[in-house]
Amino acid sequence: MPIYEYECGNCGRHFEKFVLSPQAAAPKCPVCGAENVKKSVSSFATSGRGSVGGASSCMPSG
Ligand SMILES: [Zn+2]
Repeated sequence: MPIYEYECGNCGRHFEKFVLSPQAAAPKCPVCGAENVKKSVSSFATSGRGSVGGASSCMPSG
């Protein structure tokens, strides 16, 4: 789910907004209605990558 977290620069209120495109305009603050909101890092951000396991070692037959 592309849910972005925003932080109001006026009252400091945190709120999530469901957006379809990351290029979408920043929404207004649902509390004070200020437009100076900044997009914060969502908790959906992937942390860590899957390490490649099961490395097969083949001996060259001479
Ligand atoms: Zn606000």
